[in-house]
Amino acid sequence: MDIITAQDADYENYRHVYTARGNPSTVFLPNTAQEVSFALSTARADGRPFAIRSGGHGISSVSTNDGGLVIDLRRLNSVVRLGPQTVAVGPGARWEQVARSLHPWGLALSSGDSGDVGVGGLATTGGIGLLGRAHGLTIDHLRAAEVVTADGTIRHIDADQDPDLFWAVRGAGANVGIVTSFVFDARPVPGVVQATLFFGIQDAAGFLHTWGEIVEAAPRELSAFLYIAAGDAVQAQATIVVADTDEEAGRQMLGPFLSMPGLVQQIVRSTPYFEALVTTGEPHAGQQTAKSHNGLIDHLSGDLSGALAQHLKEPAIDVVMIRSVGGAINDLAASATAYAHRHQNFSVMSVSMTGGNAFDLAWNPIHERMDGMYLSFETGHLDRHVTEAFPPETLARLREIKRRWDPDGVFNQNFNVAV
Ligand SMILES: Cc1cc2nc3c(=O)[nH]c(=O)nc-3n(C[C@H](O)[C@H](O)[C@H](O)COP(=O)(O)OP(=O)(O)OC[C@H]3O[C@@H](n4cnc5c(N)ncnc54)[C@H](O)[C@@H]3O)c2cc1C
Repeated sequence: MDIITAQDADYENYRHVYTARGNPSTVFLPNTAQEVSFALSTARADGRPFAIRSGGHGISSVSTNDGGLVIDLRRLNSVVRLGPQTVAVGPGARWEQVARSLHPWGLALSSGDSGDVGVGGLATTGGIGLLGRAHGLTIDHLRAAEVVTADGTIRHIDADQDPDLFWAVRGAGANVGIVTSFVFDARPVPGVVQATLFFGIQDAAGFLHTWGEIVEAAPRELSAFLYIAAGDAVQAQATIVVADTDEEAGRQMLGPFLSMPGLVQQIVRSTPYFEALVTTGEPHAGQQTAKSHNGLIDHLSGDLSGALAQHLKEPAIDVVMIRSVGGAINDLAASATAYAHRHQNFSVMSVSMTGGNAFDLAWNPIHERMDGMYLSFETGHLDRHVTEAFPPETLARLREIKRRWDPDGVFNQNFNVAV
């Protein structure tokens, strides 16, 4: 296994992540689960803080550190077809790579909107994606996993083998182990219809209210992400994906969106799913320093839409993102996975380049209207985030599982459920 330190010429390629610059003393680059286990035992014996890294795109910025160790899984990045619809994916693969690999097999897995994001971070927390209403969360497709637990043992888990650990991995994976391989059931997706719409918005509250109603009424083949630039002149871009290759059928589903007020430009195309993801391939240099808060909600009701319209006027706010959840995501019971939010229709995320108190204060009126949150969209590190991400029954079960599988609290870096 290669081990990178500050003395190595290419240290620069391994020290930073997308959202943070770092100065780790040692970066392990394991090639196998056995080497991950060795790296973990070494890190435990060393005693300094250590981080787990897959794609290095974690919004919570915990996949690098200063002076500690990093277990970087980028070399575990294979995508292998195991059966007609079954694929084994390494945590270090990026989602664009996964989507490209699956496309020739006529398959796809819903991930997020970014092709740069790594498999490990997203597939252990949820995966709110552009095929989400059609197919569910990414974790809903997980059939088995290979995990290195705190004692260094490599375990193969599924619904029958260590089912409690398998349940915890699907939503709180970072708390219970290091996933070294994911086995997913992918879905047949020869292509999608993708619409990119641009809006100039006069009445933000009215727009959001209507947007919410249209999304909720849309057939579940359709998932819709809205990115709203804050300011006096509110502008928005929407990415809408219909899990259907028939452009005509897709256009019909898009109809209500195309009639919304303020539409200034539309691009509708049939495309492979991988083309719908935004991928830059940029090296990581801590370039994204924005702060974000987020929550989940059933409806963009008049009251919330009004609060969001006000929020968009706050100087500290730069972008608000509203991603559809609902549809197939809500087919599972809240108790089915450690991600328990199975009734909401929207994820609301607010982004601030400046952050600080002004951002936190501006978020308060939105926060008090939210019903749960998604850990992967949060830059804050407060204890309440754990209780908002995991409802009481889920958190109690998670804590019990954590006590059993990680009694020494080794995996305490990323929204530790033990606190
Ligand atoms: C531009 C951008 C767009 C995004 N869009 C979406 C979206 O549409 N939908 C969505 O759901 N999310 C989205 N995200 C959030 C993304 O899913 C998370 O930030 C995710 O954690 C990134 O995964 P990673 O492997 O790249 O992260 P890393 O930074 O490598 O890891 C983050 C943390 O996750 C844990 N972790 C990582 N790998 C493993 C593993 N193998 N086993 C156990 N724990 C592990 C560790 O605690 C690690 O420190 C987006 C993020 C960005 C930056």
